[in-house]
Amino acid sequence: MAKIVIALGGNALGNTPAEQLELVRETAKPIVDLIQDGNEVVIAHGNGPQVGMINLGMSAAAEAKAIKSDMPFPECGAMSQGYIGYHLQNAIGNELVSRSIKKEVATVVTQVLVDENDKAFQNPTKPVGSFYDKETAERIAKEKGFVMVEDAGRGYRRVVPSPKPIDVIESTAVKELIRGGCVVITVGGGGIPVIRKNGLLYGTPAVIDKDFASEKLAEIIDADLLVILTAVPKVAINYRRPDEKWLSSMTVEEAEKLSAEGQFAPGSMLPKVQAAVMFAKSKKGRKCIITSLDKAKEALAGETGTVVSL
Ligand code: ADP
Ligand code: MG
Repeated sequence: MAKIVIALGGNALGNTPAEQLELVRETAKPIVDLIQDGNEVVIAHGNGPQVGMINLGMSAAAEAKAIKSDMPFPECGAMSQGYIGYHLQNAIGNELVSRSIKKEVATVVTQVLVDENDKAFQNPTKPVGSFYDKETAERIAKEKGFVMVEDAGRGYRRVVPSPKPIDVIESTAVKELIRGGCVVITVGGGGIPVIRKNGLLYGTPAVIDKDFASEKLAEIIDADLLVILTAVPKVAINYRRPDEKWLSSMTVEEAEKLSAEGQFAPGSMLPKVQAAVMFAKSKKGRKCIITSLDKAKEALAGETGTVVSL
């Protein structure tokens, strides 16, 4: 029995509400397997397509004057946490009922503290929302103060910063829910980024990497294990090359060396390996497994996945 933070990747969720509701039924099964085995499970997840959809819909409606004002990005993040959280609550709840396990599933709308002096704020990199032609992009940039950049020949897009998470604001609530026997969904989409000014918190348009936010959460709630579930069963070196090699384990030292060699794609596998290293280093005995959703159970039994430990 262990305290486990599961970070769900994009492939565990869906691109439309109908698709997602269908998909999360499958996602729920390996999660409930872990719960059934007696583990305390906390779930974090990404929100790229979902927050994109909400943001896009809201800005299109605002542009068309169908609604009075645009929906700010932190609010879009909050909406995505509620939407995804509801689907996970529904699916995990139903799976628990079908196995006669009496447990409640609750989503905590979560703010995650970032530092306004984080260098990321000087260099926004994360594209969000629609593509615009140059003229519209320039007009919106002027009207709303957005940073717009040309995105690989596909048009202009807003970019927001991706600062590092410092703290999970609602962590006591999360811990109490775990103590009360609930399955908790938190730091969705990396959390709603907030900065602190004179003791007060303010939402800020940014995207916190969900792998880093999950790692921070795992440290704060004193988890034993961080399980990062993604589209691949293991981490590879020489990925997609003829000499590709799938790794069953990496020490922190090896992971750092391979990261420095550029073995892991920034923006996809690198943040996972970095999060794994951070967690394994944070306290003796902590480890991280990177694997796919369908292999979660086997990976926990040590049969597959990539384990990162000291
Ligand atoms: P998620 O939504 O789970 O965060 P990402 O697409 O961001 O998913 O990251 C997972 C992807 O990283 C894998 O599907 C794989 O295509 C890619 N990837 C990049 N480098 C590697 C590597 N060295 N080993 C395995 N997968 C890699
Ligand atoms: Mg990712």
